[in-house]
Amino acid sequence: MDKYIGKSVLKGIAVGRIYWYQKQNYEIVKKTVADSDAEKSRFEEAIETAKDQLSTLYDEALANVGEDHAMIFDIHRMMLEDDDYLEAIDSVIAEGYNAEYAVEAAQNQFSELFASMDDEYMKARAADVKDISQRVIRILMGISEDGIPTDEPVILVADDLTPSETVKMDKNKILAFVTVRGSANSHTAILARSMNLPALVNTQMNPGEEWNGKVGVVDGFNGEFLVEPKQDLLDEMIRRKNQWVADLEALEQLKGLDNVTHDGRRIDVYANIGKVEDVEGALSADAGGIGLFRSEFLYLGKDTFPTEEEQYVSYKTVLEKMDGKKVVIRTLDIGADKKVDYFNLDAEENPALGYRAIRICLDRPEIFITQLRAIYRASAYGKAAIMFPMIVSVEEVRRIKEIVDQVKEELSVEGYAMGDVELGIMVETPAAALISRELAKEVDFFSIGTNDLTQYTLAVDRQNQKLESTCDTHHPAVLKLIEMTVANAHKEGIWAGICGELAADTDLTETFLEMGVDELSVSASAILKVRKAVRDI
Ligand code: PEP
Ligand code: MG
Repeated sequence: MDKYIGKSVLKGIAVGRIYWYQKQNYEIVKKTVADSDAEKSRFEEAIETAKDQLSTLYDEALANVGEDHAMIFDIHRMMLEDDDYLEAIDSVIAEGYNAEYAVEAAQNQFSELFASMDDEYMKARAADVKDISQRVIRILMGISEDGIPTDEPVILVADDLTPSETVKMDKNKILAFVTVRGSANSHTAILARSMNLPALVNTQMNPGEEWNGKVGVVDGFNGEFLVEPKQDLLDEMIRRKNQWVADLEALEQLKGLDNVTHDGRRIDVYANIGKVEDVEGALSADAGGIGLFRSEFLYLGKDTFPTEEEQYVSYKTVLEKMDGKKVVIRTLDIGADKKVDYFNLDAEENPALGYRAIRICLDRPEIFITQLRAIYRASAYGKAAIMFPMIVSVEEVRRIKEIVDQVKEELSVEGYAMGDVELGIMVETPAAALISRELAKEVDFFSIGTNDLTQYTLAVDRQNQKLESTCDTHHPAVLKLIEMTVANAHKEGIWAGICGELAADTDLTETFLEMGVDELSVSASAILKVRKAVRDI
């Protein structure tokens, strides 16, 4: 047996087979093939597999997020039946080339054609052509969509995972994550937590192909990863895993109960989500609302900007599913570790201090306006609130409010119904905390982002695994800024919550209650744990 030590992200235990995940940088090589007929059959089989996959995706999306959202998979399936597209591929195969190359050639030809069109709707189809072509190419090359080749859930071991890789993974195929790199405050770690999966980052190990299929154990309580443990230890770990599951089940009794202390102090406990599908987890954990919808995850793992319509469907789905409970949508927080190629962002020396979040939105208002239009249109279907990330000045907030007013004005001229939408900001820079009294006069609420607030207050890069021990999340400076922010919010009559990872730290629940925090927004997996902590006070 081998034992490796890592930094735990979620206290849980997983036992299963290991899968070593490697980056999917597949390269398509142009080759001639001897038997074009056989190549054509290989291609036709791949098309059928792709259509089957899309039908399954359609059924799943229909059940989980409704027809509007599922439709795209049906459209993709129909595109795979398009005569012009298929003929373009067939003709390259008939010239004696390999199917992968033929599909890529058709992809380039059709996506360029769509991209050059004037009509915005047709332009957006360029991304769909790429999407369907890449699906067929992956099938031809034997690469599964998320890189996981089996249907049996695995312990996924990787060098590192980016947020966009993590967001694309099918939760049902993963038991746990273990990575060589990464820090506990990175977005990948946050995603693992939101998926309720035991995970270790910064693990001292050197994984390789030979690990595939071996039995592993991830012990998130002790930060240990065991490879091929002896039978008696394995039995002990299975017993502990079952105990962990039983403890989680015991928390289920708290569903439907209030988040109230013995002396009657109440607090809202909401969920953080990143994807539309996460709403299911939030609802099943009995969240009082959504306190942070990280909308940038709608932009990650895509080849082009999500359109207003696509975003509208996502926000509307979440609002409808939450059925009148509050949903706080955070506008795009792209940049730093959340990178998307099509934004064409320059490489920066200090990305965390750079061009990100609201700075991009104010600099490129067309992106911001598309998102705001989608949110306001969806606001007719539930209780939406909007918050803006990375605020450092009152002027920014005033500029944002001008843009918001302009968007609302345009939508009402166009005849759209809209709900009453609270506007808030994230307090995640020391500057915002220090001028929180002035900022509180401008908005309806504050949500304190302790992940960034800690990074900027302590001058500790949240991605840097070497600095984890310096990153004291209970540092008095951070706690003072939280206290000050809540007090200033209340002086101006607005509410203040916490949506950073610290909100789920039950060692601080009592402190937060004493400070007067009105809401804690945590990953769905932590809701009942926090409820228990509140009720025990
Ligand atoms: C935070 O900074 O605390 C926060 C909630 O935002 P994110 O983690 O997405 O930066
Ligand atoms: Mg942040």
